[in-house]
Amino acid sequence: MVEDNPANQLLARAVLERDGFTVEVADSAASTLLSLTEHRPDLILMDIQLPGEDGLALTREIKSLPATAEIPVVALSAHVMAGHQEEALAAGCAGYITKPIDTRTFVDQVKAFLAGTPAQLGSANHSSGGNLS
Ligand code: MN
Repeated sequence: MVEDNPANQLLARAVLERDGFTVEVADSAASTLLSLTEHRPDLILMDIQLPGEDGLALTREIKSLPATAEIPVVALSAHVMAGHQEEALAAGCAGYITKPIDTRTFVDQVKAFLAGTPAQLGSANHSSGGNLS
């Protein structure tokens, strides 16, 4: 999980760990890239708003590196406007989860992305997005 807000880190980590997930938290682009040299996550939850390099730029970087390009990235975004969602998809995100997270559904949303079956992807046009692979 890439998240710079301590309260958001704490909540998401608690919900995921309660369900048995192992969570590594990074709070910046630099710490994320460093962490990815040591860990190979099944999924990256990416806060879009980070100090310095933002989550979209970091996602593009992750997708450009052969070692990490195949790891699915899911945007965590407070923005609910369609334009921001499209931006996340164009940057290489598999989809997005809106913040603040809903603790009743967050784990199921994460599991759906891990399974490659996020419900939201059925309703939007993603034909013009970036390379999602
Ligand atoms: Mn943030």
